[in-house]
Amino acid sequence: MAEASPLYQTYMRAPLRFERGEGVWLVTETGERYLDFAAGIAVNSLGHAHPHLVEALKNQADKLWHLSNLYDVPGQEKLAERLTSATFADKVFFTNSGAEALECAIKTARRYHFARGNPERFHIITFEGAFHGRTIATIAAGGQAKYLEGFGPKAAGFDQVPFGDLDAVKAAITDETAAILIEPVQGEGGIRVVPNEFLRALRDICDENGLLLILDEVQSGVGRTGKLFAHEWAGITPDIMAVAKGIGGGFPLGACLATDEAAAGMKAGTHGTTYGGNPLAMAVGNAVLDVVLADGFLRNVQDVALVLRQGLAALKDRYPDVIEDIRGEGLMLGIKAACPSADLLLAMRGEHMLSVSAGDNVIRLLPPLTLTAEEAREGLRRIERAAESLTAANEKKSLQG
Ligand code: PLP
Repeated sequence: MAEASPLYQTYMRAPLRFERGEGVWLVTETGERYLDFAAGIAVNSLGHAHPHLVEALKNQADKLWHLSNLYDVPGQEKLAERLTSATFADKVFFTNSGAEALECAIKTARRYHFARGNPERFHIITFEGAFHGRTIATIAAGGQAKYLEGFGPKAAGFDQVPFGDLDAVKAAITDETAAILIEPVQGEGGIRVVPNEFLRALRDICDENGLLLILDEVQSGVGRTGKLFAHEWAGITPDIMAVAKGIGGGFPLGACLATDEAAAGMKAGTHGTTYGGNPLAMAVGNAVLDVVLADGFLRNVQDVALVLRQGLAALKDRYPDVIEDIRGEGLMLGIKAACPSADLLLAMRGEHMLSVSAGDNVIRLLPPLTLTAEEAREGLRRIERAAESLTAANEKKSLQG
């Protein structure tokens, strides 16, 4: 994007202009095809232009776009019923984004304690490397200096502890603690999977101390890890959960889910949104669930993920100078690079394959959940060519050196 662009210069955009998409493929204005293992950062859960989603959006567009939450929105009731019957939750609040889902989750946890006569309990324990969004509260929750700098005082009430440190969690609990907030798999932090035992221990700590467990499943949810939600692998349930990205399949949609008990403080007038839960978003969200909840869909995600994972493990053995480690769960995979991860990202882009960078020198692979085994193998071939080109460049450099 040129300097003269009227857009805020907050993004380092790749010099690519896509015109349309089909499944796992994106096509540029000049007709070049790219294999999309970024999927809008885990958003295009069913790939591009999925016929069922296109039909649902078009049908709704002919009827009604927006109502506001002054009236019943039938699609909300339907989507909330499906989400609650498929999860731990009893109540749902719809938003337009992940950060708004987190805002609702944070407010829900604070109001729970307020309503029980403990307004001083508003602190939330979070983890280093976390990412929860870009609003004033969610940058404080994420706690990353690079996102906080220059935006005034950090919002109060977020106490951060090192990733994976249970003793630090226990030590951080005070009479003012309301909740613990964690991503079951850190996405932006570098596809760091929280071990199942750790999640179970957090559940116990919450129960022992009267705290609420809030999960941020904005990136890991809606089938991404091969279960509907990633916490299911650990066999625990949260009290509150933030969801977004994949639930809308590309349409802006988020949700905050909670148990009846956790949501008890959220009375009429305590929260609101103009657009959240609008009929267009509800039509698409329901259509996404038609596909993701269908028999065999999640099983297929797990099977294809295995093909990808095994192929990546083989590439790690063959190209140790490029690939240090493979991590993640389901189709939320990370390649920890042995070289600068930006080099690998660019080399993959040179092979017409898209991925996303993350913290900890990791490249994220977040393909559509509709990925086939053959498309997974196509991705592996492209990563292999990228690794080969980086190895050859390294060898040339060391010969010259
Ligand atoms: N939480 C997690 C785990 C995320 O990955 C993201 C976005 O990347 C967010 C929250 C914020 O979502 P949004 O960008 O839709 O506000």
